[in-house]
Amino acid sequence: MAAKWVYLFKEGNADMRNLLGGKGSNLAEMTNLGLPIPQGFTVTTEACTDYYNQGKKIAEEVKGQIFEALGKLEAMQGKKFGDNDDPLLVSVRSGARASMPGMMDTILNLGLNDIAVEGFAKKTGNPRFAYDSYRRFIQMFSDVVMEMSKTFFEGILDEIKEAKGVRFDTDLTAEDLKEVIGRFKAVYREKMGEEFPQDPKVQLMEAVKAVFRSWDNPRAIVYRRMNDIPGDWGTAVNVQAMVFGNMGDTSGTGVAFTRNPSTGEEGIYGEYLINAQGEDVVAGIRTPQPITKMKEDLPECYAQFMEIAAKLEDHYRDMQDMEFTIQEGRLFFLQTRSGKRTAPAALKIACDLVDEGKITPETAVLRIDAKSLDQLLHPTFDADALKAGEVIGSALPASPGAAAGKVYFTADDAKAAGEKGERVILVRLETSPEDIEGMQAAKGILTVRGGMTSHAAVVARGMGTCCVSGCGEIKIDEEAKYFELGGHKIAEGDHISLDGSTGKIYYGDIRTKEASIGGDFDRIISWADKFRTLKVRTNADTPADTHNAVKLGAEGIGLCRTEHMFFEPERIPKIRKMILSDSQEAREEALNELVPYQKGDFKAMYEALEGKPMTVRYLDPPLHEFVPTAPEDIGALAQDMGLTAQEVQRKCDELHEFNPMMGHRGCRLAVTYPEIARMQTRAVMEAAIEVKDEKGYDIVPEIMIPLVGEKKELKFVKDIVVEVAEQVKKEKGSDIRYTVGTMIEIPRAALTADEIAGEAEFFSFGTNDLTQMTFGFSRDDAGKFLDAYYKAKIYESDPFARLDQNGVGQLVEMAAKRGREARPDLKLGICGEHGGDPSSVEFCHKMGLDYVSCSPFRVPIARLAAAQAAIHSRED
Ligand code: PEP
Ligand code: MG
Repeated sequence: MAAKWVYLFKEGNADMRNLLGGKGSNLAEMTNLGLPIPQGFTVTTEACTDYYNQGKKIAEEVKGQIFEALGKLEAMQGKKFGDNDDPLLVSVRSGARASMPGMMDTILNLGLNDIAVEGFAKKTGNPRFAYDSYRRFIQMFSDVVMEMSKTFFEGILDEIKEAKGVRFDTDLTAEDLKEVIGRFKAVYREKMGEEFPQDPKVQLMEAVKAVFRSWDNPRAIVYRRMNDIPGDWGTAVNVQAMVFGNMGDTSGTGVAFTRNPSTGEEGIYGEYLINAQGEDVVAGIRTPQPITKMKEDLPECYAQFMEIAAKLEDHYRDMQDMEFTIQEGRLFFLQTRSGKRTAPAALKIACDLVDEGKITPETAVLRIDAKSLDQLLHPTFDADALKAGEVIGSALPASPGAAAGKVYFTADDAKAAGEKGERVILVRLETSPEDIEGMQAAKGILTVRGGMTSHAAVVARGMGTCCVSGCGEIKIDEEAKYFELGGHKIAEGDHISLDGSTGKIYYGDIRTKEASIGGDFDRIISWADKFRTLKVRTNADTPADTHNAVKLGAEGIGLCRTEHMFFEPERIPKIRKMILSDSQEAREEALNELVPYQKGDFKAMYEALEGKPMTVRYLDPPLHEFVPTAPEDIGALAQDMGLTAQEVQRKCDELHEFNPMMGHRGCRLAVTYPEIARMQTRAVMEAAIEVKDEKGYDIVPEIMIPLVGEKKELKFVKDIVVEVAEQVKKEKGSDIRYTVGTMIEIPRAALTADEIAGEAEFFSFGTNDLTQMTFGFSRDDAGKFLDAYYKAKIYESDPFARLDQNGVGQLVEMAAKRGREARPDLKLGICGEHGGDPSSVEFCHKMGLDYVSCSPFRVPIARLAAAQAAIHSRED
């Protein structure tokens, strides 16, 4: 049997969303419910995919089915498409599985031409209306299908209104509109080099193609990347018989929500316009009336509208966003869909629907977009203030939230301004551990270099500070303290605003709103906790981060990056001293100075965790991240070490590596300098034993060796750990248990996971490095070229933000399987940045991991995503 590419509305239903798109399946469902819907048909999403597979051509078979369906529609409506006397007119609209702004919107009145418009005028007895419909069609077709700028047409309309001395379009007469049409067609001919198409069949096929094309326009591609929508879904096309809201004062059109989409409050919320077509409401040419005004104007329609709206909400058990048209006193619904809403509204609506007995807590949990919780945990821009904002550039949305303030170019300046109570935006070429205090003082951080896992991104996420990273378009002069972007020169003290959730950079000071979470949030998250099987831990390196994460529900620490404990100003010189020391003795001496800090932090963290587990990862960073660069830091270190500045500089230069990310880092540090592992083991074990004894928590330290690629490498470091751990236990007279495990972040570790599991009691997937090394591109430099990859449709998303399940995921799966075959009780987790990304969390659930670990502010997102993954896998 030949494939079916086109469905009449009455042939579909709500379960056919993948094939018919959201709009198409809802129109079908409403038809089945017996609601007043202008009839029509849907060209399937598969036809869209086929269009791309055929090299952007619509197959004859598809075309044939479109006209077959059109024939049936003609029969239903009792009108002929292209008829000269009484033409059937249609609207054409896109409709993907998920509603997607950025794609082609709507074309109305398709089917009119120079002759049919006259028949239409006679038939309706309303020439003004007929010519108005035609001029709208020319305008929309030219704009939407042919991508001609709207301004050509708006200019003509304004000129004619002025010449006729009228204010509103509705004041133009039929004769005036004929003049408008003549000039519209002339401009079309001039710009397109051909006449405006008169054959309705050509008009229709061009419109269908335009919808398919719009699936791949740049705005749609960006939207898909931000919302995890796969590029191969395609969009459906809906062709629907026209009804007219612009036929006089008993006609009108409007949009309405069954509940308030900003707050979630109950009660109908919307607006409508008398004597208007759909785009008038959206375009804001005339000011729409609140929907309740319809009660006075058209009471019967209002009553019917309210009844159907309630029925639709009950049927879908969700807040609906509806479009309707009234044609000469008759109400038609043009579409319904689950309405877009703010995060607070989503929570309130879900909780209210549970209380009203319409949905279960399980469904409520599924209804919340996990990523949207960011809106509640971080400041956001005031919506009205944002409208006036000027975007001057965009880069990676490295850490969510909104921030506005004065620009400073050094960490010291940022800190000083912060202490004066200023709102600060720190702008750096890239950040390094030296900048930590400036980062702490800043409301927002903007960097020219660096990807989603760069220093700036990881540290900002940990602190919950907004960060936009990798804005290569910026021309920065850090010395002269200014940068240029989007035609503006921005100097120290000037205001900019950053949106870390979209990556947009705005000119000026845009008002922000503080984050707030309330009872609905807690209810949803506590329901989520009942459904999930994955545990959620956090990546935290300081006692402050730990407190924060525990408040947000972290069930332990999955990654404590011990090098981050040395970022503070009084600590960093000590680790530098260790790094630059030549002899084991000198290193040990420097390390001994670090022990109290490290142990003190571990103790504070164990206390904050109140018995929850903590995985302590041993020193890992490429050492270049720590060496001083500023002359005053070099000078201070020289003094401390009894060297000259030149000698310190020479030592730093000697540490230079061509590729530090693949250089002397991770467990290689402990292999070359075992004293580092010794110091760290002493610090962890002493801290754990002391807190265990003092507080009575059942602490089992988890010691994690990074960047292992070979079993013997792990064994070498583990032997040191065990030796010191046993020694500390003896010294303290403790029988504490501890475990030693490793990160799986080098492809070779995944490939030899069965061997490595012989030595490791747990694996934690370090998917930042694993992604870097599997793709073979640097996590700090990829931002520079990834955009070109999105444009070329080679990658759909940033593999450092969303786990590449197809490639890197195979290594995760393989390592999990081989590891557990060798050691059935092997504990598995993930601590790369993907641990807080909902689609990656779902993958981890499927892989049977025990926990995900993510930055503190993503903990609620991961809890919700883990519940959704568990519910989905039960449904499959
Ligand atoms: C990783 O590589 O995924 C990881 C968590 O370690 P880091 O980001 O510190 O290299
Ligand atoms: Mg790593």
